[in-house]
Amino acid sequence: MAANESIDFSSAKAGTLNPATGEKLPEVAWTSPVEVSGVIDAARDAQRSWAQQSLARRIEVVEALAQAVLTRHEEISEILSNETGREPTECMMSEVASFGAYVDTAVKESKAALKTHKVSISSLDYPGKKASVEMVPRGVIGIIAPWNYPLSNFLKHLFPAVLSGNAVILKPSEFTPRSGAWLAERCAEVFPENVVQIVQGAAEVGAAVVDHVDSIAFTGSVATGRIVARQAAENLIPCSVELGGKDAAIVLADCDLQRTSLGVAQWGMHNCGQNCAAIERVYVEDAVADEFLAQLTAIVSKLRVAPGEVCDLGPLQNAAQLETVEAHVQDALERGAECLCGGKRTGRGLGYEPTVLDRCDDSMRVMTEETFGPVIAVARVKDADEAIERANASEYGLNGSIWTRDLRRGRKLLERLDVGVALLNNHAITGAMPDMPWTGVKNTGFGVAASRFAYHNFVRPKTYFVDKSKKPDPWWFPFDENLDLFGRALIERSTGSFTAMFTLAGLLGKRVKAIRSLASLEEQE
Ligand code: NAD
Repeated sequence: MAANESIDFSSAKAGTLNPATGEKLPEVAWTSPVEVSGVIDAARDAQRSWAQQSLARRIEVVEALAQAVLTRHEEISEILSNETGREPTECMMSEVASFGAYVDTAVKESKAALKTHKVSISSLDYPGKKASVEMVPRGVIGIIAPWNYPLSNFLKHLFPAVLSGNAVILKPSEFTPRSGAWLAERCAEVFPENVVQIVQGAAEVGAAVVDHVDSIAFTGSVATGRIVARQAAENLIPCSVELGGKDAAIVLADCDLQRTSLGVAQWGMHNCGQNCAAIERVYVEDAVADEFLAQLTAIVSKLRVAPGEVCDLGPLQNAAQLETVEAHVQDALERGAECLCGGKRTGRGLGYEPTVLDRCDDSMRVMTEETFGPVIAVARVKDADEAIERANASEYGLNGSIWTRDLRRGRKLLERLDVGVALLNNHAITGAMPDMPWTGVKNTGFGVAASRFAYHNFVRPKTYFVDKSKKPDPWWFPFDENLDLFGRALIERSTGSFTAMFTLAGLLGKRVKAIRSLASLEEQE
């Protein structure tokens, strides 16, 4: 179908049109919110035996999932392409190609994160006692995802969740239900029944998931994140919220201008800017601003937007997102920004031309609110200090990058960026590297996804304590003057007294005798 602006994307049901071409997509049935608790009950049953499997067995299953996905990579790239309007090649590159490597790293991380911790206990203070801490699964994990990366948004949570012995409920965005459904089908082929299930729908279905699971991993907007976090608090379940971003890149005068312009264009425009860690703001030092902007504009204006034979960018995924982008650019232009390229719809589907705005200031929506579109807003600054101050003056803090040839100085400056991931001469790249925590500060949310630091959402530490001592512990009832002396000796030992050790040893026998006499055990022996 030829894509044109006459297609009414705004009034179509969420996720029913290809955003690039307007082509109608097959309907996906939504789960009724009342059915969700039944789905989760079945997950809870399945989880009990899944948790009994060894980690080695669970790893085998996750590796089988990677095979099942990779052998059918063309199929999922096509589904992703239809739902997002992006080129199948782009979908394959950004969501499928690294699936195998991603699984390998997740498996490696799981071995470290799930290791049993042996506690070392002083045999003098606690004779005959041993303890260990094991990581036990929480039960059923709900993973609620947004539409921007309909497949890969699940992965940061899915692998650690199942490797830990949990069952999982996937809840894709209502705008991109098919990619999640395809993933759930592949999971059903390799996992025991009901270990990974899917529910489809919008807010009501998401809310029902939060109400019944044992832990929630939410990725999405700040507004929904607040609702989910509140509901999780009410239900007293752990929750991870990974929310919006307004990432800044700081371009210093000594950077490699060509590589920097290419890198900023890449991470500003990747996935049409619909990336929580897209470079949305650039603070460039005055000395190189003209040259940087000339190169950046030359690159960005050559990027091709879908539909077309070979495209670098898809369209915006939905009509509301396109309206947000338009409103932000309009606001910037009214407040004095200069449009160096783009700045309007492509006229095909939900396409918007890749846009570079110069002379932006921090009163503009493009500098303060998440745009989530193909717009790079640039502000000129006098030096690195001003750039860092303005980059940090944001309600968000996901990724932040500094671009410079001076690696030592750049590394030091990264410490001043108020973000979850700070990068030198790159941006957003660690999103596909699951051994590094993906996290943010402020309104970006407190969620930690990927890496061994993310496991608290999926496991809880359970302490196993075994007492093999045949004697009662010396501080048990009854209270007597020897217990008083014992307590004083403990305090003296803590303050460095060596002789206190002998006092304690001497009191031990007297205390045990007194305790046993309480139960008349002394007579029985
Ligand atoms: P959204 O908040 O509208 O929806 C996200 C998901 O939540 C969807 O599945 C939706 O159906 C569900 N949902 C809606 N209301 C709910 C409720 N009351 N209870 C439970 N679930 C509910 O977000 P979106 O527009 O789909 O996604 C875009 C946002 O996601 C952007 O802000 C982007 O920055 C953010 N994002 C963040 C990260 C990150 O890692 N920080 C990654 C990707 C996207």
